[in-house]
Amino acid sequence: MRELLKIEDIQVFYGPSQALFGVELSVGEGEVVALMGRNGMGKTTTIRTLCRMSKQKSGAIQFAGQDISKMPSHKVAQLGVGLVPEGRRCFGSLTVQENLVAAARGGEWTLEKVYELFPRLSEREHQTANTLSGGEQQMLAIGRALMTNPKLLVLDEATEGLAPVIREEIWRAIGELKAGGQSILIVDKTLAELLPLADRCVILERGKTAWTGKPDELTPDIADRYLGV
Ligand code: ATP
Repeated sequence: MRELLKIEDIQVFYGPSQALFGVELSVGEGEVVALMGRNGMGKTTTIRTLCRMSKQKSGAIQFAGQDISKMPSHKVAQLGVGLVPEGRRCFGSLTVQENLVAAARGGEWTLEKVYELFPRLSEREHQTANTLSGGEQQMLAIGRALMTNPKLLVLDEATEGLAPVIREEIWRAIGELKAGGQSILIVDKTLAELLPLADRCVILERGKTAWTGKPDELTPDIADRYLGV
C-alpha cells in the first residue's frame, strides 16, 4: 500500500503549554485509520496540525509525496486534505446547495453524487444551513469536504452529539466511502461502529502515539489502559 500521509514526531504548543509530544501517524492510500485516545490526549490538535491550523515546533508532515510541514492551510486543502471539523462549521446563511457548490473542485464528486450519498440533503437543498438539524449539518459538512474531491477525508468527531438514526446514516455513508476506496482519518468515540470500519488504529496518550495496530489486536487490556473502556 502506498503511503498517503506520514506524520513524524510532531511537537505542538499552545503558547507556553505543550499539547503534542511526538505524534507518529500514517495513512496509506485507501486505508481507514482511526485516531483514538481519551479526552484531551491530542486528537484534535493532531488534525489541526495536519491541516496547518496549528503550527508544529518540530517534526515532519508528508502528504501525497510532498513536505507540507510549512505549507499554508489553503494549500494543504488544495493538495487534497478534506476536513470535516469538530463542530461542523457550515455557512449558516447559505443554502445546502450553495454550501456544496462553494466547496466544489473538479473531480469524481459532484452535487448529484453527494445527494445520492445523503438523500436528506437533496430534500433540503434550498434550505439555509442554519435551519438544518445537527445531523443534517454533519452530512453537509461531509458533503462539502467530498466536493473538494479530497485524497484524504479527515473527520473529527464524526458522530458526536447526533441522534442514533442519524449516526447510523453517517456510519453507512462512511462505509460506502471506504468501499469506494476513499482514504480516511477518523476520530470518533463509538468504538462499536468505528472499529469494524478501521483498517488500523492509532492511540494517543498525553500528546504522544502510545499504540498502533489493527482493530483485532486492540485487546480489552489495551482498550482499558489507553481508552478507559
Ligand atoms: P477531545 O476528545 O476532548 O476533543 P483531543 O484528544 O482532541 O480531546 P486536544 O483538543 O487536541 O485533545 O487537546 C490536547 C491538549 O491541548 C489538551 O491538554 C488541551 O487542553 C490542550 N489544548 C487544546 N486546545 C487548546 C487551546 N486552544 N489553547 C490551549 N490549550 C489547548
